[in-house]
Amino acid sequence: MSDKPIYVTEPFLPPLEEFIPYLEEIWASKRLTNNGPMHERLEEALCEYLGVPEIALFNNGTIALLTALQALRITGEVITTPFSFVATAHALTWNGITPVFVDIDPNTLNIDPSKIEAAITARTTAILPVHCYGNPCDVEAIQEIANKYNLKVIYDAAHAFGVKDQGGSILRHGDLSAISFHATKVFNTFEGGAIICPDKKTKQHINNLKNFGIVNEVTVVAAGINGKMSEVNAAFGLLQLQHIDQVLNDRKTIDTHYRESLRETPGIKTLQPTDLEKHNFSYFPILVEDDYSLSRDDLYALLRKNNIYSRRYFYPLISEASTYRQQTSASNGLKQSLQISEKVLCLPIYPQLHTDEIERIISLIRNQKNV
Ligand SMILES: *Cc1c(COP(=O)(O)O)cnc(C)c1O
Repeated sequence: MSDKPIYVTEPFLPPLEEFIPYLEEIWASKRLTNNGPMHERLEEALCEYLGVPEIALFNNGTIALLTALQALRITGEVITTPFSFVATAHALTWNGITPVFVDIDPNTLNIDPSKIEAAITARTTAILPVHCYGNPCDVEAIQEIANKYNLKVIYDAAHAFGVKDQGGSILRHGDLSAISFHATKVFNTFEGGAIICPDKKTKQHINNLKNFGIVNEVTVVAAGINGKMSEVNAAFGLLQLQHIDQVLNDRKTIDTHYRESLRETPGIKTLQPTDLEKHNFSYFPILVEDDYSLSRDDLYALLRKNNIYSRRYFYPLISEASTYRQQTSASNGLKQSLQISEKVLCLPIYPQLHTDEIERIISLIRNQKNV
């Protein structure tokens, strides 16, 4: 096989020489972490780029999620989706909270708001939905339920960098949103993440929590954690931000290419493009239906044989993991999630993916009619 392997994603790396001046600045300042100048600049730049009031940077998205739950003092049970990356439920478990899984809407692949109320008990304190693949949840329906039952809403917005609906950034919804800047995400700082905060007071509280609960030399106000982003990571974020519009444009071109080429392939379904001001084209999921000539796993294997590493995000479901399988909410009522997780396949999408590589992937998918 002479073709070079194609992974589901590849991080965007600007030319190395562009990063050197940032490193020189860090070396000169001798500030390596703890709210240094790069960190400050990145927070400011991200607030402006994303159009959000306040942002608190973190060393990764999982710690951001853990801290968001701590900041709102969430306990008991939290309603969430099984169709996500395991970190969503793990963040609850690490806080001693029980995740309660609710089924997804088969069109958006996000938590189905019409099924949330039935899962609420006296112990429920919050809802933790995921904007899966960057497609916004039904934020209004979710907020309405939260208001009615006095629940908090924390969004796992790990996939949602830069996504905007008619009213602005989708990161503004809920009480808090946590985002990831992991190497595999649309915008990356190698490792990193953030909490989007509605105001300065909330941000100050979160800043304390991410620095061991330390407020000053003699005052510790909470059992905080080390969630700080280093200066090198922040600097890389500043550099990434200079290229983000091009990155999103390139992703959009690939999305359109796939969408148009696969439209008429029997048994292959693409998700409806959402009516948005701005999407981030972070993933390209397809559903391999029964009338396709191969099963999803056979198509996955065929692509693999051709050095194309698509991914079955999200299969198995979080609720299928041994840690969660025993829970009541994991064993019934998740019909749509189970069906989708057995059909879904995420195709490679990243700025450096060449047109001829996309063509090769498409023709492999299209030419399986009579095998
Ligand atoms: C990536 C991801 C996370 C975790 O983010 P990290 O920065 O890797 O810790 C959480 N939730 C979802 C849905 C993710 O995709």
